[in-house]
Parts: sequence; structure tokens; C-alpha cells
Amino acid sequence: MSATGAAASGSARARGRCAPHEGSEYLVSAETAEQLRQVMVHGVNRLSEWLSRTSRPGTGTAPGELRPLVEGVDLDTPLGSTAAALAELDHLYLADAVRYDDPRYAANLSCPVVIPAVLAETVLSALNTSVDNWDDSVGATLVEQRLIRWTAELIGFGAGADGVFTSGGTQSNLHALLLAREIAADSARNCDPGIRTVHVLPRLRVLTSEHSHFSVARAAELMGLGSEAVVAVPTDNQRRMCPRALSRAFEDYHTADTTVMAVVATAGTTDYGSIDPITEIAAQCRERGVWLHVDAAYGGGLLVSPRRRNLLAGIEMADTVTVDFHKTYFQPVSSSALVVRDGAVLGRLTHHAVFLNPADDPNPNLADKSLQTTRRFDALKLWLTLRVLGPRMIGAMVDAVIDLADEVWGLLDADPRFRVLVRPSLSTLVFRYEPTKHGPPEVMDAANRHARHALRVSNAGVVAATSVAERTYLKFTLLNPRATVGDFAGLIEDLAGHAHAYTLGTADSADND
Ligand SMILES: *Cc1c(COP(=O)(O)O)cnc(C)c1O
Repeated sequence: MSATGAAASGSARARGRCAPHEGSEYLVSAETAEQLRQVMVHGVNRLSEWLSRTSRPGTGTAPGELRPLVEGVDLDTPLGSTAAALAELDHLYLADAVRYDDPRYAANLSCPVVIPAVLAETVLSALNTSVDNWDDSVGATLVEQRLIRWTAELIGFGAGADGVFTSGGTQSNLHALLLAREIAADSARNCDPGIRTVHVLPRLRVLTSEHSHFSVARAAELMGLGSEAVVAVPTDNQRRMCPRALSRAFEDYHTADTTVMAVVATAGTTDYGSIDPITEIAAQCRERGVWLHVDAAYGGGLLVSPRRRNLLAGIEMADTVTVDFHKTYFQPVSSSALVVRDGAVLGRLTHHAVFLNPADDPNPNLADKSLQTTRRFDALKLWLTLRVLGPRMIGAMVDAVIDLADEVWGLLDADPRFRVLVRPSLSTLVFRYEPTKHGPPEVMDAANRHARHALRVSNAGVVAATSVAERTYLKFTLLNPRATVGDFAGLIEDLAGHAHAYTLGTADSADND
């Protein structure tokens, strides 16, 4: 603390409660409740005005254009008012902020959010509840646990299930695999009591499809398993894990030298939305006593779908499940959960701190279950969502985007200018501009890259790119129930127009990335 700061705090203490410390007018408190209301109303008015005034999915602004504006801000000289600071944000952030609520945003797994969840976000931030120990979070602990039980029931887990909210699918997957690793290390020690953990780790393998999310490989790296630990199991032409290939991988890796510590099935791959055959995979895991983790980060919304819950058949046989509410439950980032069939195993990773969650505390302390310590009360967003609109409405929105994806697949499939892979079971489409008579593949790659870029810089749409067998493909991810088939017909026309212009050599070269 600076000398003046120390003097100020000393004099504030001397003055007692009547003269609060400088700066405390900015702290949320009983005394500032009215000020909080005014600031929020001002901010929300601005936001609401901006939301209704602007609608374009995204801009083509490059880092080099925005960086000088952000760098130019003197962070040591405050503006002293929320209104001025908000106004400054207009050109630093809002002018280029990508709008997931715009029907022509169709790039990644980023969703428009429901209004009750945004309100909940404000409430949980204002109270700043941290769900790590009962004494600090009281009701919040129970709200989170109730939602975990609710999710576990949707999965079909029994009464012993438990889990925890996490920052996202990446953390949920890491947590699941850590649990699997502990169990595998235990059983290695059971067979050979003298064996040391460092000798067990290099023998462990994780089997997962070649289209699983990279967070599975990242988790293996973090756990010190080494780069060979994750074995990619081949998929069928729908990009689903092949049960026969899994069975062969078991033969190759569940041996005297190596142990399969877990299989990760994906219920909704990030690129194709493909859902691995969970029932068949689960049967193989049970037969061999191997941990099954289902990564339903994306497909988790099917749990509440009125028409497509059957796509997750078999998920109740998993040991652990990842669900990202911030993808298919229309929740603001972050909101995800790891759900565990036998909740007791969460205790394998528990650490007790006397000041936080002592072992003899009879109260529930969620720090016992989480990889995080201080942790957001993200569960409140889903809670308020369920209490206002209920699960059926969320599920109907999930069904709506999947229906739309199927219609858009029909458009692309019937269009001789495009090649579309994999009829979707969720809401992604991977396709490429490739008319019947087309140039060399490298030129078509460049035409597709150009089309994506030109679409974005003209404020007409944001779509993703991916690569399939080393060729460039475009990708739609549909998560907006307000989008229509007309919106996508427009995007398709625009993309075809830009790509065609590129192949004719008439595209504006400045737009070329
Ligand atoms: C998005 C995704 C993840 C990662 O989740 P985050 O919430 O981004 O950390 C993991 N697995 C799958 C299948 C995903 O789609």
C-alpha cells in the first residue's frame, strides 16, 4: 500500500463507520444499493439500445486495426464514471462484438442466451457467492447439488450419482479422466502393491474416436501420461466410433504391457455432431471393467429434447458424463457439469484444508468435489432458466435447431455447387464449394477460404472453416432457434457468389486471406 493509502486507511479507521474509506462508494453494499440500481439501469439501457440498433453477425475487423485503440487506453488514468467508461467500450468492444443471436452467425458452438440466465449472472456476480464451502455459500450449495441431481436423473443415473459444476467441457473432461486415472492406478497397485505411480502412468491408455475433442488429448498431457496415451479409434462414414475398431484397440492396448484406463465416447463431435454408439461401447467397457466417459458437451441438450432423447441411449451406462450448459442449454459462458455415476469416487481427489473444508465438517463443502477452489455460482443461471421457462422449452429449441440443420443439409445436398459431408444428427454441417466442373483442389481450397472471409468482412455472415483429408471445408454450427432456412439459403448464395468470383479471378484481392 502506498504511503497515502496507508494514511487514508488509518484516518478512515479513526473516523469509524461514518466516513467510509475512499473507493467504498464503488463496492456493492447495503449503502450503495441505490447506486448499484442506477448504474445497472444506465448500463442495461445502453446495452438494450445497442442490441436493438445493431444487428450484424460479426465484422471483419483485423487485430491490427483494433490493437492501437485498446493499447491507446491509459489504464492508470480512470475516467471516473461508469457512463464514460461504457461509452469508451463502444469502439473497443461492442462495435466488433460477434453477435451469436444474429441468425447469420453460424460458426462455432457459441449460443444465444436466455434472458433469465443473464439476470442470474448479475445476481450471482453482485453477491459474488463462491461455492466452495458451506459457510460462504449456504443455499447456493444446495441449488447446485439439486441441479446436479436433476441432470443425473435425466442421464438415468441412480441415487448414488453426484457431480459438480465446472468452467466448461475442457475441465469436465479433465476431471473425468483424472478420476479414471486414480481408479486405474488403484487397481494396478492392487495387483502389484509395490508398484509406484510413476511406473503406472506410462502404461495407461485412453481410447477415443479420431473426432473426439482435443481436450481429451490435453487432459492426458496434463496428467503426465505422455503423447502416446491417447489412441484414436477409427470411425465409420458418419464419423462415429466403430465398435469393431474399438474392440481391436482393446486387443492391442488392454494387454500385459498397457492398460486402457478409460474410453471416451463423444455424444456430439464438435465438427460433425456425430454421436458414438454409446450402448455398444458401454457393453465393451463393462465386459473389460474399463471406465467409460461420455463427452456430451455438445449433445447434452438432447437430455431435455422432447423428440430426440433416444439419440443418447446408453448414456446411463457411463461412469462419467460431461454436459456443457453453455452450448445447448442457451446459458452464458461458463456453465458446464461433470456428472458421476458413483459419486463416492469424487472423494479420490478431495483435499481438506482446515480453514475451508475440514474433514470433520458435517456440512457439505463443494470444494471437496471440485478441481477449483473459489468457484462461480454458475448453477444459478440454469436454475433461473428452469424456473422461468422449464426444460421442455429448452429441449424444443434444441429440436428446432436440429430440424433446421436437416433442412439446410437438404439445400446443400441438392445444390450442385456444393459438396456436403454427413447428414447431421445434431446441428453442424461440414461442406465445401466444389461445383461439378471445378479447378484444382488447391484453388478450391483458396476459393472456400476467400468466401468465408468475404462473407465476414461484408457483415453478412460468420461461418467456420475446418479441414477434412487436408482439404478446406466450411462449417455451419446451428444453435439459434430464431434462424430460418431463408437465412441459410442467403448465406449459401453469398458463399457461392464469393467463391465463384474468386475462381473467375474477379474477387477483390484485398478480401483475400
Ligand atoms: C466444446 C466441447 C468441449 C470443450 O468444452 P469447453 O466448454 O469449450 O471447455 C469438449 N468436448 C466437446 C465434444 C465439445 O464440443
